[in-house]
Amino acid sequence: MRAGYDAGVKAEIVTIGDELCRGEITDTNAQNLAAALWLEGVTCAWITSCRDDAADIREAVTTAARRAGAVIVSGGLGPTSDDLTVDVMSALCATEPEIEPEAHRRMADRYAAMGRTIGPHNERQVRIPGTARALTNPVGAAPGFEVTVEGTPVFCLPGVPAELLAIFSAHVSPRIAAIGGEALNRRREHSYRVFGLGESDVAAALATMDHDGLAVHYRVAFPEIVVKVVTRGENAAARLAAADATIRERLGQRVVKGGVPEATVASVMDAGHTLATAESCTGGLAGQLITRVAGASAIYRGGIIAYHNDAKRALLGVSEDTLRTHGAVSAECAGEMAHGAKTRLAADWGVAITGIAGPSGGTADKPVGTVFIAAAGPQGEIPARRLLWPGPRESVRRFAAYCAIDLVRRALEKDQ
Ligand code: ATP
Ligand code: MG
Repeated sequence: MRAGYDAGVKAEIVTIGDELCRGEITDTNAQNLAAALWLEGVTCAWITSCRDDAADIREAVTTAARRAGAVIVSGGLGPTSDDLTVDVMSALCATEPEIEPEAHRRMADRYAAMGRTIGPHNERQVRIPGTARALTNPVGAAPGFEVTVEGTPVFCLPGVPAELLAIFSAHVSPRIAAIGGEALNRRREHSYRVFGLGESDVAAALATMDHDGLAVHYRVAFPEIVVKVVTRGENAAARLAAADATIRERLGQRVVKGGVPEATVASVMDAGHTLATAESCTGGLAGQLITRVAGASAIYRGGIIAYHNDAKRALLGVSEDTLRTHGAVSAECAGEMAHGAKTRLAADWGVAITGIAGPSGGTADKPVGTVFIAAAGPQGEIPARRLLWPGPRESVRRFAAYCAIDLVRRALEKDQ
C-alpha cells in the first residue's frame, strides 16, 4: 500500500464535451484543475470525460459523487442546446432550473449598454439549479454553481478555460482548501532531475524507498528522469530529509540540479570558466540548450556548427589526416573539434559532438545512433566517449547534446 497516495480527500474531475471525446481538443481544463487540486492538498483520484449527452453526464456525475469527496465539473453551461449541465444537475437534485438574479442583472446591464434586450436564448446561460449556490463569473456571462449530490459537493464550471480558472480561483479554491487543508499541511514533496540512467534503472536504484509513508513517482522528461518524492503525516519533514540523503547516496552525480543545461551553466560559472561548442550532427542543439539558461551569456563564448568535412577543417582545424584515417565520426575527430572550439573561441572549455543521427548513413562499424563526444578543458582533454542511442533522429540528437554538455558538469563537480 502506498501511503503517500492514501491520505487526504480524493476528488474527481468530470469534463464534458463532444469535442473532447472526438479527440478534437486537448483537455487542458482537466490538466489545470488537477494541478490546482494538488496545490490545495487534494488528491485528484479520477479524471472522467463524457460527451454532451444527458444520460452520460448523469452517470458520470453520479459515479463521481459516490466515490469522491469533491467533484469539479467542466463544460456544458453555454447558451446552446448541447449545453445540458444545468438541466442534468437540476434533475439530479430533484429541482428545476431557475434564473440566477445577479447574473441576469449583469447580463441585462451589458445588453442595455449595447441598446439590446435579452432573448430567451441568452437567458439559458444564467440559469442554475433551484437548490444551487451561484459562483459568480468574473469574466463571462454563465455563472458557475455548487450543488450537493450523494452528500458530496459538486462544483460546475463553464468549459471556456479562462472562465473556468477565474471561477475556480475566486470561489472553488477556498472551499477546496478548507476540504484539503489539513492534508496539505501534512504533505511534503521534493522533485529531482536525474540524468545518465533510464527510467527503470532509476526505479530499481530507488525501489526499496517506496514504502509506507513515502511514495516515489517517476516521469520521463527525455533524456532526463524526474523523480518526485511525496510523504504525508507525522514526521513528514524528517522522512523527506532521510529520503533526500538516500537518493543522493544512490544516484550520486546523476542527480542534476535544475536539469543538465542549468547545472552545467552553474558549474562553469562557479568555476569562473567559459565554454564553447563545436557541433556536427546536433546542428547547434547543445548551444541552444546552453543559451536557454538565463545568464548563460556570462560563460558561453559561442558555437561552431561544422557539418561538412571542409567546415570541420576550416573552422575547427580538424586535420586532413584524421578525417581520412578515422572519419568524421570518430573519437579523434571529436577530440580535435573540442580543441578547435576551445582555442578558436578562446574559451576554457570546448565541447564537441559528431555522429550519425540517422535514419540513414550508418555502417556495420558505426551504426545509426553512434555519436562521439569530447571535451577539452583547462587541465587537458576529457577522453572522447562513444555513445550509441537506438532511437529516431531527434532523440539521438537530443541525447548526444545532453551527454556532451554533461561531460563538463561532471568534470567540474568532481573537482569541487
Ligand atoms: P460557456 O458556458 O462559456 O458557453 P461551455 O461551458 O458550454 O462554455 P463549451 O461550449 O463546451 O463550454 O466550450 C467552450 C469553449 O471552451 C470551447 O472553445 C472549447 O474548446 C473550450 N473547452 C471546453 N472544454 C474544454 C476542456 N476540457 N479543456 C479545454 N478547453 C475546453
Ligand atoms: Mg459544450
